Amino acid sequence: TKQKGRLPEWLRMKIPSGDNFKKIKGDLRELKLNTVCEEAKCPNISDCWGGGEHQTATATIMLMGDQCTRGCRFCSVKTSRKPKPLDPNEPENSAEAIYRWGLDYVVITSVDRDDLPDSGAEHFADTVRRLKGKNGKILIECLTGDFKGNLDNVATVALSGLDVYAHNIETVEALTDYVRDRRAKYRQSLAVLEHAKKVKPTLLTKSSIMLGLGETDEEVLQALKDLRAIDVDAVTLGQYMRPTRRHMKVHEYVHPDKFKYWEEVGNQLGFKYVASGPLVRSSYKAGEFYLSSILK
Ligand code: SF4
Ligand code: SF4
Repeated sequence: TKQKGRLPEWLRMKIPSGDNFKKIKGDLRELKLNTVCEEAKCPNISDCWGGGEHQTATATIMLMGDQCTRGCRFCSVKTSRKPKPLDPNEPENSAEAIYRWGLDYVVITSVDRDDLPDSGAEHFADTVRRLKGKNGKILIECLTGDFKGNLDNVATVALSGLDVYAHNIETVEALTDYVRDRRAKYRQSLAVLEHAKKVKPTLLTKSSIMLGLGETDEEVLQALKDLRAIDVDAVTLGQYMRPTRRHMKVHEYVHPDKFKYWEEVGNQLGFKYVASGPLVRSSYKAGEFYLSSILK
C-alpha cells in the first residue's frame, strides 16, 4: 500500500486518555522520570501503563540525558557531539522512582553515548543493581546501544541482574547504512545480542525491526533467520512512522495482514515470542512477552 497524505485507517490512533492514565501522568511529574512513552507520544501508552488486572504494567525509561552522540535517520532524539556529563545520582534516583511507581516490568534504555569511555555500560548496570536491590521481583529489560561493538561493555550490562537484554537491529542488512547512524553495523549488532546470551545463557534476548523502509521480503526473512541463528528469543516488527519532515520518508505503509504473516513466519522460525503489527514498538507489552516466553 503506497500512498501519500492521509494515513491508512489502521494507523489512525486514539489519543491516550482515561482517569488511570491521568493519575499516572501526575505521579510521573513527581518522580521526575524521563519516559520514552511520553517523549515519543507512543500510541500504546494506555495499554502499557494501564496494566490492569490481567496485564503487566510496563513503561520505558530513558537514562543518560536527551542528547545522543549518533544521528539515525528515523529517530527524533537530538544529536550532540558532546552531551552533558552523566548525572552520578541518576542510577539511584531512577531506581527509587521506578520502585515507587510500582511497575511490574520496566524497560530501561538510553541515548547512545559514544563520548563516554564505557559508552555508559556501568551506568546501566548500576541502575539495574540498585533497582533489583529495592524490589527483587520487578522484571527489568535493558534496551542498549551497540557499545561500539565492545563486548566487555555488553557483558557488564548482561551480568548486572537484568532479565531481558534487548538491542535493535532496526532494519534489514542492506538498508542499515542508510537508516541507522553510519557507526551502527548490522553484524556488530548481531554480535552484541550473541554475546549477551553467551555470558548469561538464562537471559532472554530480544530485537526489533521497522518495516516500511523499502526492505524486500527476502531481506526481512534473512534478518529473522540471522536473529534466530544466534538464539534471539523475541522479535518485534512495527511500521516506521516519520517523526518530522526532516526524517527519512516512509516508503510504504505495510498492511496489517502482512504483519500477521511475519508473525507466523517468526513463530515457525522458533522465536519464543513475536509481536508484529503496525503500531507495535520494541517495548510493546514487554511484560506480556516475558511471561509468555518463560512459560514456553
Ligand atoms: Fe512505552 Fe514502549 Fe509501551 Fe510505547 S510501547 S507506551 S514506548 S513501553
Ligand atoms: Fe536515536 Fe538510538 Fe540512533 Fe541515538 S542511537 S539517534 S537514540 S536510534
